[in-house]
Amino acid sequence: MKVVGRFAPTPSGRMHLGNAFAYLLAWLSARSEGGEVVLRMEDLDTLRCSEEYAEGIRQDLLWLGLEWDRETPPQRQRTEAYEAALEMLRSKANVFPCWCTRGSLNLVNAPHASDGHPIHPAACRLRSEEERRKMKGTPAWRLEAPDLTISFTDGVYGPYTENLKTACGDFVLRRADGVFVYQLAVVVDDGAAGVTQVVRGCDLLSSTPRQLYLCRLLGLPEPSYWHVPMLTDREGRKLSKRDAAMDLCRLRKDHRPEDLIGLLAFRSGLIDRQAPISAEELLREFSWEKLKREDIVLC
Ligand SMILES: [Zn+2]
Repeated sequence: MKVVGRFAPTPSGRMHLGNAFAYLLAWLSARSEGGEVVLRMEDLDTLRCSEEYAEGIRQDLLWLGLEWDRETPPQRQRTEAYEAALEMLRSKANVFPCWCTRGSLNLVNAPHASDGHPIHPAACRLRSEEERRKMKGTPAWRLEAPDLTISFTDGVYGPYTENLKTACGDFVLRRADGVFVYQLAVVVDDGAAGVTQVVRGCDLLSSTPRQLYLCRLLGLPEPSYWHVPMLTDREGRKLSKRDAAMDLCRLRKDHRPEDLIGLLAFRSGLIDRQAPISAEELLREFSWEKLKREDIVLC
């Protein structure tokens, strides 16, 4: 089976060095197996995302030497596909209306899930039809988390196991404002594009069981997952979009692509001394085995 990897940037700003690192690995991984790469703009947040940023990201990828084979439709054009998926989920599992707000969820003294969010209270799910009719305002739609343990082997971090009910809880598929959530969109889009390999930052490791569960309900093939370490500063703070100095827009003024790739490759263990190297040259010596598993201190 042909490997299909992907770049899935959110065009709500310029590309950040942390994203560049994940895309570099996604590209190396797919290309080293003779596979292809698809590009998809994850612009569910239509207020913050723009075509101008999307174009900036395409230019940054090309500048880094990370070309792709095809671009699939951006998420803002995929509402019909997400609606169809939601209908299918309704027929296979318990999708229910939820009027909880972030404030009300924090007030409920519910156990907190592994990533810090409060577990959704069962009382909301157990409302009768009559009680639901009396509720005011548009609800969000949630999927009941079954007492099901999902296990998978991450290509970088190894075995990962989570019980959906106790560690995650019922999760939102469509928000009250009508916007579909990332968890659903990403599964539907990867399935439609034939993605076989998901390489992304390890901050998304804990969403993988939810996505695998959605894959199963929707009858989609499960991709392999490779979560990559985060870039941090010396104090261990994760580099984020807030650090304007780490924007490709800024970095491109003072550096060559091979300098940045050389730095990322050296600090992450892909090469054993710091030297300029192009993506194409790095491809010849790429192996997942060389990648460090701990956070990568960049500056
Ligand atoms: Zn609720």
